[in-house]
Amino acid sequence: MRVLKFGGTSVGHAEAFAQVASIVERTIAEDPQTVVVTSAMSGVTNALIAAARAAAAGDEQKYRDVRTELLVKHQVVAGQLISDGVARAALGRLFEERLVMFERLCQSIAILGELTKRGLDVVSGLGERLSAPLLAAVLRTRNIPAEAVDAGEIIVTDDHFGSANPLMDITRERVRARLLPLIEGGIVPVVTGFVGATQDGIATTLGRGGSDYSAAIIGSCLDADRVEIWTDVDGVFTADPRIVPEARTLPQLSYTEAAELAYFGAKVLHPKTILPAIEKDIPIHVLNTFNPDHPGTRIVRQTDNQGGSVKAITAIKDLTMITVEGRGMIGVPGIAARTFQAVASVGANVLMISQSSSEQNICFVIPKADAPRVLNALHEALSHELERQHIDSIQGQDGIVIVAVVGSAMKGTPGIAAKVFGALGEAGINVIAIAQGASEANISLVAAQGDGDEAVRRIHAAFELDKG
Ligand code: ADP
Ligand code: ASP
Ligand code: MG
Repeated sequence: MRVLKFGGTSVGHAEAFAQVASIVERTIAEDPQTVVVTSAMSGVTNALIAAARAAAAGDEQKYRDVRTELLVKHQVVAGQLISDGVARAALGRLFEERLVMFERLCQSIAILGELTKRGLDVVSGLGERLSAPLLAAVLRTRNIPAEAVDAGEIIVTDDHFGSANPLMDITRERVRARLLPLIEGGIVPVVTGFVGATQDGIATTLGRGGSDYSAAIIGSCLDADRVEIWTDVDGVFTADPRIVPEARTLPQLSYTEAAELAYFGAKVLHPKTILPAIEKDIPIHVLNTFNPDHPGTRIVRQTDNQGGSVKAITAIKDLTMITVEGRGMIGVPGIAARTFQAVASVGANVLMISQSSSEQNICFVIPKADAPRVLNALHEALSHELERQHIDSIQGQDGIVIVAVVGSAMKGTPGIAAKVFGALGEAGINVIAIAQGASEANISLVAAQGDGDEAVRRIHAAFELDKG
């Protein structure tokens, strides 16, 4: 059994849908037990979110425009690929229905003047609820029996809106109960990526780019033989090909390497995608919808060539570095614990903690969007120490990037760190902080955002990753 996930660009326009249909056709000829997971058409999730935000700010025109734009966008595809008038009309009604709901939601957001995370999840998940029925209808035009399935029925999550976590036991039951009868009946389920629902049926999302994760969750629940992530590049590259044009495809990666790459910003895979696959040892293939004969990248437990090699360079942008400092901190117990408790209390994710040779400062990196809440929480939690001047300052520095060098068994290989810092030194790039090297698979460092792309290019060149 295979699970095939198609990303936003893979369903970005009519020709792309046709291409996806050919890939599904080819796949079911090899393995009729196939499940499809789809993202929203490219740009749709962004448009939905922008409309909801504008509504909250009192702009009632934006969502009306977006409604029209999305209706046209989906109808154009239906118009080009679905010749059967009845099928096209049924789809048109479904689009209308979903978009009326979108408009009503935005109206209430505008009346309340507030956009909650819960409200945003309902709105942002609508794109997949448009694309999945459209893709199922396109597949049917090729005589592939297909049925759209709303993941809100089968992926049960907690209520961590915006990046909900699946409750795997109940999800497994629901996925199997809903999808296996279809598969056994020769029908290809076309499941909405990105979305889920709580046990009470409240809509959630798995986080931006979360359709990859949806596919891995479903693959794990069905004990699939493989999960295929179909995207717009030939697999996972040695660096983001948009930043390093000479980057090349990595034919194989281990789960650990892929997880590190995804965690540190390689957008091609959602960071949580690997988790369900590891448990069941399911290989993940990353493939190019627009170059389907390219073998892409295979992500497996153990790769053939192991040992002491740098595989890829990634970067995460839009971060803030928080520094808590003061000479009076020396010897005062519990400051670090309370610092990180305060960070955790606002639900912020610490991407990196930097080593400091003295006890005079604590320094860590978080997403910029979390910085105001984290700084508030820290000022509250440490107000005593600030008053008594045990702590002199709590500061946030924006415009930070983390650059990560990912590979295997790097700790045991001398010279890797020296080469990384040598390459940056030569380029005059200032390294603000270095991460504690706990993981064998990663060396990461903090730099100014403006230096991020150049740092990635320089390290990529130093390790000659373009040469393979
Ligand atoms: P999809 O819509 O198919 O989910 P995404 O845009 O989420 O696609 O991810 C694919 C993009 O990820 C590529 O177009 C590429 O620019 C970017 N990317 C970043 N880092 C890497 C990498 N190391 N290898 C491949 N692609 C990468
Ligand atoms: N459509 C969602 C997003 O844009 C999920 C995805 O594409 O994976 O984030
Ligand atoms: Mg993606």
